[in-house]
Amino acid sequence: MDFFSGFRDPAIARPLLEKIRAAGRGVRFMEVCGTHTVAIFQSGLHSLLPENIVHLTGPGCPVCVTHDAEVAAYMEAAGKDGVIMATFGDLMKVPGPGGGSLKSAQADGARVKVVYSPPDALKIAHENPNDTVVFIGVGFETTAPGIAATVKMAEAQGLSNFKVLSFHKLVPPALRALLSDPEMAVEAFILPGHVSAVIGARAYDFLAEEFKTPAVVAGFEPLDILQALILLQEMLEKGEPAVLNQYTRVVADEGNRKAQALMADVFETCDARWRGIGVIPGSGLAFRGEYERFDAMKALGIELRDVPPLPGCRCGDVLKGKLPPNKCPLFKKVCTPAKPVGPCMVSTEGSCAAYFKYNLES
Ligand code: SF4
Repeated sequence: MDFFSGFRDPAIARPLLEKIRAAGRGVRFMEVCGTHTVAIFQSGLHSLLPENIVHLTGPGCPVCVTHDAEVAAYMEAAGKDGVIMATFGDLMKVPGPGGGSLKSAQADGARVKVVYSPPDALKIAHENPNDTVVFIGVGFETTAPGIAATVKMAEAQGLSNFKVLSFHKLVPPALRALLSDPEMAVEAFILPGHVSAVIGARAYDFLAEEFKTPAVVAGFEPLDILQALILLQEMLEKGEPAVLNQYTRVVADEGNRKAQALMADVFETCDARWRGIGVIPGSGLAFRGEYERFDAMKALGIELRDVPPLPGCRCGDVLKGKLPPNKCPLFKKVCTPAKPVGPCMVSTEGSCAAYFKYNLES
């Protein structure tokens, strides 16, 4: 038995599932992370869990929460002379204002390159000294330290033509915003393993202390998720909310201090726009003064501006757990992975794409 298959062993999963069924205590839980969304569907857990375990998908797909105004900003950057855009592939098909995307802009002549890591964008900047290379920085606390490290590499190398659009988002302020919404009916959270590896399990203590909402930091294998659900059931049953760490093999209570220090050196928190949710105070990362020269918005004179939302798309309600993707009137009819209307159908971590891929009708 290897390390991974051990966490997928049906012989161990069966009694855990039985325990969840026998407890009888329902849980209306939200998983915050897109990787959990996919894991729950891919492993078949979605169909095995009893009906009183209600699974809501959350705002944890970085592509999905990138605001229309941010999409408009990177599309504007892509249209400028002397600019080469460097991006992770997930963003290529996200529809922007007017229906255009980076992919269509590329077909029309914009210089857009898909990269697999931020240092790949540095390489492009070295190879094209007369152009400005703009890396699109979307992602959560998982991605931001790597981008901060790349900015510091650019500084050490004296590279002046490397810029970043800092559209990073921070998870704890988003959870605070969700729980502050009186229409939210989430009883408990399964918290993202990757983000937690950076910020640590204790970063979420406010969920239990202020909002009396139990939460479990969990890994991404079926047994991790089942164990997290049992812990949530127990906390709800006893009326003793806490933030527990099921993923101790990866996540430390205090997180990764080095990654936190890198982020804090290059960025400071700022208000950020989230698709479908709006502006959340302190939920974004802006360049600190000493690193401002790497800020693509400033270098290219771009500002976030209000743009009309994508017509008919209900990504906002999906991200807030208020609407199952398959209840969106456009799901599967007009909106498909081949022809996405919104980013939740584009990203591999998007809930609409997951519902489509695993053919979920209910
Ligand atoms: S199905 Fe398509 S249009 Fe509807 S919410 Fe999802 S991405 Fe948006």
